[in-house]
Amino acid sequence: MRTIVQILLFLLFFIPSLSRAQTNPQFDVTLRVDYSSTDELLDYFDRKSNNSARVAKQQGNQLAVATSLLLARTERPTDDFVRALESARDTYNSSNDIYGLTPAAAHLDELKKLLAETKRRRLDRRVVATISSLFPADAGISLTVPVFVVAMGNENAAAFVRRVIWKENAPVFVGDDQGEQVIVLNLTRCLMRGGDVEREFVQVLSTLAHESFHAVYGAYRAGSSADLNPIGPAAALANLVQNEGIAYFLSMEIQEGGEVPPPHWFDATKRAVERLNAALIELQSPTLTPWRARELMLNSNLSGSFEGNYGATAGLRIAYEIEKRLGRPALTETVRDGVKEFFGKYDELCRQDSNLPRLDAKALGVVAR
Ligand SMILES: [Zn+2]
Repeated sequence: MRTIVQILLFLLFFIPSLSRAQTNPQFDVTLRVDYSSTDELLDYFDRKSNNSARVAKQQGNQLAVATSLLLARTERPTDDFVRALESARDTYNSSNDIYGLTPAAAHLDELKKLLAETKRRRLDRRVVATISSLFPADAGISLTVPVFVVAMGNENAAAFVRRVIWKENAPVFVGDDQGEQVIVLNLTRCLMRGGDVEREFVQVLSTLAHESFHAVYGAYRAGSSADLNPIGPAAALANLVQNEGIAYFLSMEIQEGGEVPPPHWFDATKRAVERLNAALIELQSPTLTPWRARELMLNSNLSGSFEGNYGATAGLRIAYEIEKRLGRPALTETVRDGVKEFFGKYDELCRQDSNLPRLDAKALGVVAR
């Protein structure tokens, strides 16, 4: 029964998005989904192949290995991952699993099921149709994003976007103006207790839509004028609030199908807005140290909890209120015009409804010019 309800919600959600996508011929985004990293890893754990070096050579696995080491803040010799693969398969050794291999080894059957379902249901087209409604009709975006579906990786990152250049089939991570954006999605993080493959697939969709929004938004903003891309730590946080806020709103919409969130969600997001006010003010202080600025930025989205991620969660609340009270076109306008519009529209709503958690005037000052 639950599955049927979810399928209905899912259809309700996607039919309008698909029709909107067809009205926007200038939105030419392709997700090039590559499953070979997962195929090779599962075959190896399933003992259909014995070539651990071949598993390690897959591009998605290389990206996941490098990012796992970065997040664990450690370095390892180049053959370390191959040895970790062998020990995960042959000894089920889970001690110090920095590459996140144990969940895949332990849930092989569930992973195979979810992988088959994901391949069958044209993940890429659904996600592109969903995110296209957030971009203006005249956006003129033409972009191909490689998506590497993997079944391993650091436990703190279900998926991520990085910019990369490939040199002799090895990834080199580069800055904003170089290389191509790639998305890596860890399928094991979408598994759920009880193995309901329909819910797991919705999780895959919502995770990929979130990251795809970041990738497309990044490409779209790269073509914007400089005044929409302000510099300085407070402005950087404000930009993160909008970027993560809309991405999380998209994930929530896919998972909950537009249901009104429970009261504790409104409480938690209100506290996140209060913390965002404090952080934006502190980031404009003349006595701010680089160490403290870095800490405030990292906590805003990588603290490990919903409320702790005050920047992303405050942005989610702002995106939610703009969409619910002003509609999707208003949210799309903020994508076009940037964080000044995102905060500005929300500030207008706060003036109309004193129950909304307000952005402080000093915090708003960061986007005023
Ligand atoms: Zn994100």
